[in-house]
Amino acid sequence: RAKADPLRTVAYYEPAMDETVREARALAADLKTAMEKGELSLHYQVQTAIATGEVFGYEALLRWTSPERGDVPPALFIPVAEENGLIIPLGEWVLQTACAQAASWDAAYKLAVNLSPVQFFHPDLYRLVKETLEKTGLAPARLELELTETSIIDDKQRALEIVRRIKELGVSIALDDFGTGYSSIDTLRSFPFDRIKLDGSFMQGIETNSDAAAIVRSVLALGRTMNISVLAEGIETPRQLEVLRGEGCVAGQGFLIGRPACPETLGLQPA
Ligand code: C2E
Ligand code: MG
Ligand code: MG
Ligand code: MG
Repeated sequence: RAKADPLRTVAYYEPAMDETVREARALAADLKTAMEKGELSLHYQVQTAIATGEVFGYEALLRWTSPERGDVPPALFIPVAEENGLIIPLGEWVLQTACAQAASWDAAYKLAVNLSPVQFFHPDLYRLVKETLEKTGLAPARLELELTETSIIDDKQRALEIVRRIKELGVSIALDDFGTGYSSIDTLRSFPFDRIKLDGSFMQGIETNSDAAAIVRSVLALGRTMNISVLAEGIETPRQLEVLRGEGCVAGQGFLIGRPACPETLGLQPA
């Protein structure tokens, strides 16, 4: 460690940086063994039709419960896994586990699985999806893969080819966290998305704030024009649901409708 020379102010930050790097490495090392130790699991969050309340699907959400660390949120460990490549085996585990579980559920329910940008551009993705569907027997039409715009922006042409190929399998594609990234209308127009997931941050204030409501309304109009179904994420209050219903939003997801839980708790499969 550098001496704390008053002329080299950087030295003052070094101990803290050491700590951050050490912590990230320790987290990565723990995550690596978490899979083998069975510390990973999947929770599912219900997706419903807003007009009728009918359940049509579930989104798989990765959970890591470490004996030492407790519940580690995906927002913390997924970026680490993306950084060191661990997201590839991790993402494989998620897809295989989620498809195997969903194959045993009522066939009326769809399954949504999140894909990291690293996974999306990985050359084996197509084969992984194809083989996972074959192995688990899940009907391709029941699987929806969720991408974020970060996955697309790096190389639009290649991204479009990947999306097209995957869609040829009969799998659908959703654009997750819409409104938080680049959200260009051009992306919507050039990609054959089946669904737009409007980010939960837009729910804040739609009951009271007319700007927030206007944004939601315009995304819904965009969806209708482009014939893409819009799902509102992060619905927490009855009033938000009411506003969305009034605006003709097709689908919704959020703590108000259902919190993510294990498939046994949700009655999707026997305990
Ligand atoms: P996401 O895909 O946008 O998932 C929605 C997140 O919002 C989930 O957080 C969910 O628990 C949370 N949520 C749902 N309803 C509400 C609500 O009404 N209010 C609030 N405040 N939050 C709500 P979670 O499970 O912590 O996941 C965070 C993010 O981590 C996900 O965002 C996704 O980007 C990523 N993630 C989770 N599982 C996976 C996975 O298996 N693979 C990849 N690549 N990413 C994952
Ligand atoms: Mg998602
Ligand atoms: Mg989202
Ligand atoms: Mg997200």
